[in-house]
Amino acid sequence: MEVTYEELVQKSQENYEKIEMVLKKELKEVHLYPEDLEYMDTFGKCINCGLCISVCPVIEEVGINGFLGPREIDVSMVRNVHHVTDQVDVIFKCIGCNACHEICPRKIPTKEIVMFLRHKLLMLDKSKVPTPLHSVMNNFDQHKMFYEPKPIEKRQKIIQRQLKKVGLPYIPDPEKEHADVLFYTGCKAENRLYLMREAAKLILTKLNVDFTMLKDMVCCGYASEEMGDYERRDKLRSELVQKIKKVSPKYIVTICPGCTASLKRIVEKYGLDINVKHMVEYLIDDIGLKNLTVNSNQELVVTMQYPCNLYREFGDYIKDYFKQILENVGNATVKEASISSKCCGGGAYVPLIYPKISNKMLKTKVDAMKEENVKVITTICPECNLSWNTGLHLFDKEKTLELLDLFVFLAALLYSR
Ligand code: SF4
Ligand code: SF4
Repeated sequence: MEVTYEELVQKSQENYEKIEMVLKKELKEVHLYPEDLEYMDTFGKCINCGLCISVCPVIEEVGINGFLGPREIDVSMVRNVHHVTDQVDVIFKCIGCNACHEICPRKIPTKEIVMFLRHKLLMLDKSKVPTPLHSVMNNFDQHKMFYEPKPIEKRQKIIQRQLKKVGLPYIPDPEKEHADVLFYTGCKAENRLYLMREAAKLILTKLNVDFTMLKDMVCCGYASEEMGDYERRDKLRSELVQKIKKVSPKYIVTICPGCTASLKRIVEKYGLDINVKHMVEYLIDDIGLKNLTVNSNQELVVTMQYPCNLYREFGDYIKDYFKQILENVGNATVKEASISSKCCGGGAYVPLIYPKISNKMLKTKVDAMKEENVKVITTICPECNLSWNTGLHLFDKEKTLELLDLFVFLAALLYSR
C-alpha cells in the first residue's frame, strides 16, 4: 500500500527533519511505502569507515571503478533518489549478499536500500529497468512464478530420469487439504532443480511427517522484491497467503533460503501463527538428529557453500545445523574452506544482467576450492546450487570437483537404510 509524502513525514519526527532538510524535493517525485521509513532512518548514519568496501565481493572482482559499492549507495545515492535513473549500473551490480551489513558498525541495510532504489527506478522510468527483468515480470504475471514452467509431461519425464539416476523412488505430491506441515518448494526447485524438490519430499515422507504441498505454486514475492517490484511482490504474497490459510499448517518448511526469509516476513506481516523453517532447521529442531541416524559407512570429505541470505539474516547456527547433518547423519568429514561463507555470485539478478561479474566470482571460488584440495561442495540452497553448476561447467573442465545437494544426499541415505 502506498502512502503520501505527507503521511510518511507525519509518521516520524526524526525522518521529518531529514526529509525536510535533505530529501524533500527528491522524495516528492517518487512513490513511497511505509517500509521506506526504515531505510530513510539510516540515511546519514554512515561514518565513512569504508569497512563495507573491504568485504564487498563485487568490488573485489571488478574494483571500485567497476562498482561504486555500498558506501556510495548508502551515502550519496539515497540523497539523490530522482537521479537513480542515471545510476542503473550501480544498483543492479549489487549481488545482495549482505556482507556489507554484517561488518557495518552502524548496521546500515545496504541490500534493502538497493531494493528501495530499484523500486524508485521502476516507478520513475520502467524503460530503464534492465531488459532480462522484464521477461521475469512477465513470468510472474503469466505463471505467478519466476520461470515459465515446462510442460507437465516433459517435466515428469525429467523427474523420473533424474530419480532413477540416483536410485531414488518417485512418489506423487501429497494433496491434503490440511496438514501439520506445508512443504513450500519455491520457484527454482519447482521449475529447475527437480531432484532437490523430490528429495525433500522423500525425506519428509520417510520421516512420517504429516505434510502437504501447494497444487499450484505461487511465488513468495522474494524475487519481485529483489528487483524492487513491490507491487508484484504484494500481489503474489496476498494470493499465497490465501492458499496458506486454507492449509492452515503449524509449519511451513522450505528448501530455499530466500523463500524462508520471505515467508518469515509474510507470516509476521499477516499475523499468521505459523512457524517458518528451512529444512535444515526443521530436521534439527523438530525431527531431531537421533531420528535421522543412518548407518552410513561411506567415506566422504565435504565442504559447504553457506547461503548468505540464511545465515547472515538468521545467524551462524544455520552453519552448525548444516554441518551437524553432514557429520552426524552423513558420517562425512566436514572441511571448512576459506571461502565457504563467501557469496556464490548468484543473487539479486546479477547473473542475468551482468553474467561476467557472477562468472568472475565463480571462477575465484572454483580456483580457491581446487587450491584447498576440496573434492565435494555441498549446498542447501537452489540458488547456490544453480550457481555452482554454472561455475563447475565453466571452470572445472577436468571435473575435479563434485556438487552435492544436501537433500539428495540425505534422501539417498534414508532410503538405503
Ligand atoms: S550486499 Fe554484497 S554486493 Fe551488495 S553492496 Fe553489500 S557487500 Fe556489495
Ligand atoms: S561499513 Fe557502514 S558506516 Fe562504514 S562506510 Fe560502509 S556503510 Fe558507512
